[in-house]
Order: sequence, then structure tokens, then C-alpha cells
Amino acid sequence: MRIGVLALQGSFREHEMMLKKLGIDPVLVKSKIDCESLDGLILPGGESTTISDLMTLYGIDKEIITLHQKRIPLYGTCAGAIMLSTNPGSPKVQSLGLIDITTNRNGYGTQKDSFETELDIKWIGTFKGIFIRAPIITSFSEDINVLSEFNSTPVLLKKENILISTFHPELTDDTRIHEFFLQMVKNRLCPQSQGAASSRASYQSNHHGQEGWLRRRMSVITNYYRKREAAPCERMRD
Ligand code: GLN
Repeated sequence: MRIGVLALQGSFREHEMMLKKLGIDPVLVKSKIDCESLDGLILPGGESTTISDLMTLYGIDKEIITLHQKRIPLYGTCAGAIMLSTNPGSPKVQSLGLIDITTNRNGYGTQKDSFETELDIKWIGTFKGIFIRAPIITSFSEDINVLSEFNSTPVLLKKENILISTFHPELTDDTRIHEFFLQMVKNRLCPQSQGAASSRASYQSNHHGQEGWLRRRMSVITNYYRKREAAPCERMRD
């Protein structure tokens, strides 16, 4: 499994460490060529204006759009979420327009207004949310799945193969959101396995397709990742 972390600016080292904890040695994406053969890509937090400028300068923006067209999972944290949005809420940011949300950059205030709070996350449970000059998502399309909210606005969202959070799980010791993302990657790599599980899911419960399947897999996910010696598709099977 080849996972990239966009490494132009921001907290890419922390994402790298998190993935290493899960047995993945990620590709640090600094140029177009690094995007080749990726199975998933994380866009870190940082400064979206800088990330936007560098992404355009190096032509990485087009590569990420191509990854998305191939349904390769993308996970954007904070500035990364702004980069994936259709409306970044600022003319200084050339976002990629891949998920239909509007962001209000620095919506909670300046650096000194950064905060931590306990979040309740669908399928995952309680999680420490670290918000650093985070954006507020002011609108989003109805087909987006909201996995967690703070103050009645969404902070963790999923739409098909895109996951975004306005907070920073890579700054905690808790790997569960990264594991969740890796499971999205595996679902794409091994659709036959997911398909079988999905039909069972729609038969057995009112949770549909990929979402219901992901929810159930969270309970066993950690053990799967720790068994690195097995082939990815073998690990997918029940
Ligand atoms: N405020 C930053 C921006 O607009 C995002 C901050 C972060 O990623 N922690 O780009």
C-alpha cells in the first residue's frame, strides 16, 4: 500500500510518524512524480495560502485531481481540508474543488484562540480534537456524511473517497482516524471483499454500502494493520 503525505509545508512529519506507527512508510510528496502509483494521499494542516501557491507552482494540483478521478482516497486535515474544498472562502487560496464545502478560514480566531476539546465521532467514539487556527465549515452539500460536529458545525466529514477534518489527529497519540483512512484505501484496493461485505450489510442492517461496512470494520481494524506480513487483499477477508 503506497500512501503519500503532501510535504510542501505544515504538519507532514506528524502524519508521517502516525503512519509509521501503523506500519506504513509513506511517500513524502514534494513533486508531481511522487504522486505516481499512490493508493492514498494525506494533505496536512499548515498554511493553505502557502500550500496552494506551492502546489500550483509544482503542478501537484493537477496530479491530485487525477488521483481523485481514479477514486484514490484523499484525507485533508485543517489547511488540507481547505485545499480540497470547492469554496475556500478566500481569493488567496486556489482550492482543488473536490468536496462541496465552504470554509471560513481561521473561523475560531487567531493562534491564541486555538483549543482542544473532546469530540464524539461516529463509529469511532470519543477523540481529542486539537483545533489550531482551524476553519469553520459554513456550508456543505447534503450528500456529505458528517462524522463529528463541534458547536453544531461539522469537523469530520466523509464523501465517498474523501475524508476531511478541521482538527489535527496527527498531533495526538490516537491512530484511529488514520486507521479509518487506511481502511478507505483498502476498500478501494480490494473492492471484491468490500462488495461481499456490503451486500451482507444492506441485507442485515439499515446502514448502506461502504459506510456501514466501514463502521463495522473499525472494531477489528487495528489487528488487521498490525499483521503486515499478509497480502492486503488477504487481510480484507473475514
Ligand atoms: N488557518 C490555516 C489556513 O487557513 C489553517 C491552519 C491549520 O492547518 N492548522 O490555512
